[in-house]
Parts: sequence; structure tokens; C-alpha cells
Amino acid sequence: MADTYGIGTTCVQGGYHPGNGQPREVPIIQSTTFKYDTSEAMGKLFDLEADGYFYSRLQNPTNDYVAKKIAEMEGGTAAMLTSSGQAANFLAIFNICEAGSHVVASSSIYGGTFNLLNVTMKKMGVDVTFVSPDATEDELNAAFRPNTRAMFGETIANPALTVLDIELFAKVAHAHHVPLIVDNTFPTPVNCRPIEWGADIITHSTTKYMDGHGAAIGGAIVDAGKFDWEAYAGLFPGLTTPDESYHGIVYAEKFGKEGAFITKATSQLMRDLGPIQSPQNAFYLNLGLESLHVRMPRHCENALKAAEFLEAQPEVTFVNYPNLKGNKYYERAMKYLPHGGCGVVTFELKGGRPAAEAFMKELKLIAIETHVADARSCCLNPATSTHRQLTDEQLREAGVPAGLIRLSCGLEDSRDIIADLTQALAAARKAMG
Ligand SMILES: *Cc1c(COP(=O)(O)O)cnc(C)c1O
Repeated sequence: MADTYGIGTTCVQGGYHPGNGQPREVPIIQSTTFKYDTSEAMGKLFDLEADGYFYSRLQNPTNDYVAKKIAEMEGGTAAMLTSSGQAANFLAIFNICEAGSHVVASSSIYGGTFNLLNVTMKKMGVDVTFVSPDATEDELNAAFRPNTRAMFGETIANPALTVLDIELFAKVAHAHHVPLIVDNTFPTPVNCRPIEWGADIITHSTTKYMDGHGAAIGGAIVDAGKFDWEAYAGLFPGLTTPDESYHGIVYAEKFGKEGAFITKATSQLMRDLGPIQSPQNAFYLNLGLESLHVRMPRHCENALKAAEFLEAQPEVTFVNYPNLKGNKYYERAMKYLPHGGCGVVTFELKGGRPAAEAFMKELKLIAIETHVADARSCCLNPATSTHRQLTDEQLREAGVPAGLIRLSCGLEDSRDIIADLTQALAAARKAMG
């Protein structure tokens, strides 16, 4: 689409441009395979000599329409959909790492991604050094090794709600000749476009706000198309030396900065590992994208109102929301997220576990769920759910005290969310005695 269109127009109309008499809405191409007149024509696809589809484990037209829209929203040059956010982060990292490689990652990231790096990828021989999201430039530099191949962080971390200093991370990554990968799930490109601050690869759990209705698990990877793989060819042999499984093509040479990363991830990693999004889910995702720019401001408005309300309550010891004045990350939020961050707020109840239990039991509108970031408000007490194996002492050390509640503000009327919080706080107060 034209560069002059705003993000809202891209949300609605990006990616898919039907011709005369074609379906107005993105069609679901529910087909595993595609038909060709000659084996020669099909052979060209296998050699990456021609564009086209042959098998939906690698590529599907529905997915590509939606991926193209997400690329346009982020200001990237190419994108692909994956079966989940986990798959997106794994493929994005593994596309340039192999046994013997090393990644520098912010320690303040989604638990699933932390485990992916700290446990599973280590078993594959990819090592990681975690750095504080508040590390100085010198401290970040010190984490790099000769075998470092990528730097990773989350724009707004789930659930710690730290805000990444994208510009600084990008500067340090580039000084070491490696790309910065940013998981932009929480703000979405409506609230932050990390490529404009120097990020090279963007990942998403589209399961969250992009879908926005709790309907479909999915992920996406976007390439900014700016990283010069050939300038540091020795570091990225997968992109700069011949791929024998495709008759010796060199991705960076054949597809350029704009296309090499996604083409390799599709033609190698999707081919061999297969975590593709189903076209049906891509269709649901696209329905969500069509209203993302309208929904995000409402999520943020509701979250800010809830945060301001909670902050004034005597039962609450602290409230964490980056766009709330006085928050540790407020300045950074104003720089990177001036129009709002996300709909997730965390807060701690005085009275710990019993207070949290009483509070949660009393909620009527806000449901207890492990999910975040969809139309319906929901919340979670890590101490009695995701982190229930930990003692109160261990919980405090992990930065998730027993009384901590993660609240995901949906799209309801803010006064109803606040009314529900009010009556549940009364129950917490009773439990505190
Ligand atoms: C949920 C989430 C993921 C994982 O995504 P799935 O779609 O659940 O696999 C990754 N990163 C962030 C920031 C998330 O919130």
C-alpha cells in the first residue's frame, strides 16, 4: 500500500488487494496443495526460481495476504505467519543461530521465551546471556561474545511491563554486527513500530491483541529489510553461503536485504520444522487486524483508568503500568509509546495470598484466565496459578509477590471494570481482617 496511508488504513486494507470480481474479504484457501500443468512449472517453485504455492506446510496464499498486511503495519519488507508466538520467536532466532552460537537477551521477557532460550535452545547448543532491560551501554557491550549472533528483547515485557530502550539495544547490537530482534506483541505496531527505532526483526504472538478476541493462536515474523547480512558474511553463513538443499542458492545474494531472512525461514525452517499457521486462523487474525487501531486506544484508556483507580486504593501496595505517571518506565514509555502501551496492568494487594484469593473469588465481570490481551477483561494471580509451586519467599525473589495480580483490561466500559474491582477489593479488605 502507499506509504502515505496511516496505520488505521493499513490495518483495514493492507496486504490484500482483490482484482475485478474477486472476493472482497481475504479468501480462506483451505487447500494443502496446489495444482500445476507441468512438472517443469512446479520444479521452478522447488528451485525458488518462481513465486507460487505448492504445499501449505511452507506457504499458503491466505497466510501471505495477512503476513503482508503485518509487514506493512510494522514498516517491514517481508513477513511470515507461524503457528504460535513461540514458533515465531524460535524461528526468528534459529534462522541465524546454530549449535555454537550465542544470543544476548533481555532478562525481562515472556516466561515461554525465557524457557525457550534458557532451556530448550541451550539443549540445541545455542547459548544465552540475559541482561537487565536497564543495563547501561557498557554493561550491554560486556555481554557480547565473538559467537553472538542476535540480540533479543520485548518492547513491553509480559508480565513485568518493563519498557525496552530499543534505540540503545539496536545501537549496541549493530556495534557488534548482529541484528536486534524485538517481540512487539504487547504494544502492536499501532502503539510502537520498533523498526523506526532501529530494530531489524520483529516478532509477534498474534494470539494477543492482533487477533484480539481469544479466537486463534498464532505468530508472525517481520523483517525490516535493513540488516546487511553480506557485510558480515562470516557471521551469518546460513544467509551468505550456498544452500545445497536448493541447488546452492545464496539467500542474501538472490533475495537481497529485503527478502533473504523470511525466504530462508520459510524455505528451510518451515520446510523442516513445519510450525505454520492454518489459513483458517490467518483469516480470524485478519478480522482482528481490521479493527486493531480502534481497539488498542480503548484497551489503553481502560488500563490507565484502572491503574489510576488502583493506585488510590488503600488495599493496594503498588501499581505497575508504564504509562502511569511516576512509573519507573514512564519517561521511556513517553518516548516509545506516547499514545499508550497496552491494556495490561499489574498490582499488589496488601495481605498477600489470602487477600488475592478473596479478591479473585469475588470478581464478577473480570474472569480468571491465563490469557491476556483480548476483548474481555481477565486477570491472574501468579502465586495461585502459573507460579503455584513457589514459596512466598521464592515468589518475592522472582519479582512476583504472592499478592500480585495481573489484570488485562478488555474493551468493556471502564466504569464497569472499576466497579468490579471496587467490590472485589472490599472482599480483599475483609480477608485482611
Ligand atoms: C504470549 C506471548 C508469547 C507466546 O505466544 P503464543 O502465541 O502463546 O505462543 C510470546 N511473547 C509474548 C510477549 C507473549 O505475550
